[in-house]
Amino acid sequence: MERIGVFGGTFDPIHVGHLVAAATVRHDVGLDRVLLMVAGDQWQKRGNVVASAIDRLDMVRAAVDGIDGLEASALEIERGRPSYTHETLQALTAPGRELFLVLGADAARNTGTWVEVARCQELATLIVVSRAGDPGEPADPTGWRWRTITIPWLDISSTDLRARLASGRPVEGLVPGPVIELIRARGLFT
Ligand code: ATP
Ligand code: MG
Repeated sequence: MERIGVFGGTFDPIHVGHLVAAATVRHDVGLDRVLLMVAGDQWQKRGNVVASAIDRLDMVRAAVDGIDGLEASALEIERGRPSYTHETLQALTAPGRELFLVLGADAARNTGTWVEVARCQELATLIVVSRAGDPGEPADPTGWRWRTITIPWLDISSTDLRARLASGRPVEGLVPGPVIELIRARGLFT
């Protein structure tokens, strides 16, 4: 069996918290690959995304370059309309393949509101990424096959990074070097 993780996000921009989560899950769950699934026009965040889908995809590609087992996926962008998780999991379903849906603890608390959540629960095992010392409620992903993976608390968010970049403050150490180069070369988030 090929074991594939699906880690979705807007990645606007991708940062080291995302990479720590993806790499740790890959190792601890024993996954062959983790796909960083770059959201297209994400319906839950409509109006808030600042970088284009192609710029966000290229940033994710730059970030995972050279990291074993992490890959950027354009599947949702290529769909050309907002994607539901059940559609993405369905598209990735194949004989000989086992799917693992990777979610932050915050997102894992809200799957009850998802479209076709029961279908998602059939198609994938949920991996909840919990940040050590997270003051939030423990996740209770009712209806899922699931397990929790704990990673260090890295208090980094794309929202904060966009604000830092807009005001000209450094993001070194928070964003991978090749991604910073790409941001500067394309003049993103200014
Ligand atoms: P934004 O501030 O725009 O919401 P974000 O930093 O939360 O951006 P997303 O693209 O929304 O990034 O997140 C994608 C996934 O990464 C989500 O599952 C989220 O829980 C997880 N994630 C976000 N920030 C971190 C972090 N610092 N450490 C670990 N996981 C994170
Ligand atoms: Mg977020």
